[in-house]
Amino acid sequence: MMNLLQKVNVFCELTMYGREPGVIKRAIKLAKSKGNKIICETRGFDFEQKYGERGKGFIEGHHKTFLSKAADENGQETKPEDIALLCSNCHSMIHRRKPWLTIEELREIIEANN
Ligand SMILES: [Zn+2]
Ligand SMILES: [Zn+2]
Repeated sequence: MMNLLQKVNVFCELTMYGREPGVIKRAIKLAKSKGNKIICETRGFDFEQKYGERGKGFIEGHHKTFLSKAADENGQETKPEDIALLCSNCHSMIHRRKPWLTIEELREIIEANN
């Protein structure tokens, strides 16, 4: 039985290689239904705008509720709301070192450096 942190790692790695668990597709659908573009949540990076047809629809998913008490260690289904849609750069920076950053912490770092 994997612990929650391992599960999040596996989940995030899958999305990094474009092998998307079904929940990513649902998260993308959810964003679209809200009228949002499928772009990075921290900096608005748009793969389609940068890479054209090849980048269309590409986004990585980060499991953002791993720290919350609501996250259930016993295999509760990941919900689309649990997923942050991120570009590859931002996602890699979150996982580069432990403890992992929250989306808000990453945003603060980006703002402080730009
Ligand atoms: Zn992640
Ligand atoms: Zn990004």
